[in-house]
Amino acid sequence: MTKHNVAIIGSGPAGLTAAIYTARAGLKPVLFASSVSPGGDLMNTTEVENFPGFPNGVQGPELMAQMQEQAEKFGTQVRYEDVDKLALDGETKVITTADGTAHEAATVIFATGSAYRKLGVPGEDKLSGHGVSWCATCDGFFFRDKVVAVVGGGDSAIEEATFLTRFASKVYLIHRRNELRASKTMQDRAFNDPKIEFVWNTEVVEAIGSEELKALNLRNLESGETSTLEVNGLFVAIGSDPRTHLIHNQLELTAEGTIAVQGRTSKTSIAGVFAAGDVIDPSYRQAITAAGSGCVAAIDVEHYLANLTDKAA
Ligand code: NAP
Repeated sequence: MTKHNVAIIGSGPAGLTAAIYTARAGLKPVLFASSVSPGGDLMNTTEVENFPGFPNGVQGPELMAQMQEQAEKFGTQVRYEDVDKLALDGETKVITTADGTAHEAATVIFATGSAYRKLGVPGEDKLSGHGVSWCATCDGFFFRDKVVAVVGGGDSAIEEATFLTRFASKVYLIHRRNELRASKTMQDRAFNDPKIEFVWNTEVVEAIGSEELKALNLRNLESGETSTLEVNGLFVAIGSDPRTHLIHNQLELTAEGTIAVQGRTSKTSIAGVFAAGDVIDPSYRQAITAAGSGCVAAIDVEHYLANLTDKAA
C-alpha cells in the first residue's frame, strides 16, 4: 500500500489551501472530498463579496472550483469519497473510506468544517426536503411566488432572506431576539427590502404539514403567546457545529466542541495530526480565515515531516 505524506480530509477553503501549499512543497497530498457535497459551505453561497482579490465579488462555487484547480495543478490527488473511520495513533495514520478501503499517511490534516444546526422541533426532520431547507441557494428556486420564512439573526439568515426575495413573494425573518447579530451592511440591505418582514422575539415550535410544509407554530418569547404562520418554505439558518464525529475519543476538543490546537498552530493532541478551518474555529469562521488556517496546517506538516526525516537520518 502506498503511504501518503499527507492526507487532507475536507475540501472547503481550509482543506484546499492546505492542499495547494503541501502540493507546492512537493508532498503530493491526497485530499478526501465528500462524495456528495465537495467544496464545503461556499458551494451553497451565491456572491462572495469579501474574499480579497475579487473587487467585483465571486460566486462561491466558482471560488471553490478555482481553488481545486490550483490544488490539482500542483499535484493534489482529489478523491470524491467519504471517510468512514480514522486510526490516528501511531506513526502511520489509517484513513478508511466508505467502501472499506484503507489509506495510509504519515500526517493528516483534518478540515471537515461545520454542519448546519437544526431547530430540533417536531416536523423539521419529516418535512426536510418538503418545504424545510438549510440552503436557499440550493432550494430557493422551488419557492417562486411562494411565502417563506427564515429563522436566525446572523449573517447566514440575512443572506438567505435577501437571496430568497428573488423568488418568494414574501419572506418572514423569524428571530428569537429583537436585534440581529448580522453585519451592519447586510442588516441595512434586509431592513430596506420591502419583501422581508421581521418577526422579533419569536421561536418556531413546530413545522406543520403532512406531505408538504403548510405552516409554522410560533411562540412569542416575551408574551408567551402562540400563533400560526402559513408558509410554503422554512429555511433554517441558525449557525453550525464543528463536524468532529470522526475523531471523537481520539482528539482533544475545546469546551465549544471544536478540535483543540496548540496556540496559533494547527497541532492537535496527537503528533502528526493537524486541524484547520471551521472545525477549530468557534469565532471567526470566514472563508479567508479558513484558508489562512489551511496554510498554517500545511506549513506545520512540512516541519513535522522534515523533523521525521532528520530523525531517521
Ligand atoms: P451565527 O452568527 O452563529 O448566528 C446564528 C443565529 O441563529 C443567531 O442570530 C442566533 O441567535 C440564532 N440561533 C442560534 N441557535 C438558535 C436556535 N436554536 N433557535 C433560534 N435561533 C437560533 O451563525 P451564521 O449566521 O451561520 O454565521 C456564522 C459565521 O459565518 C459568522 O461568523 C458570520 O459572520 C459568517 N458568515 C459570513 C457571511 C458573509 O460575510 N457574507 C455570510 C454567512 C456567514 P442569537 O443572535 O440570539 O444568538
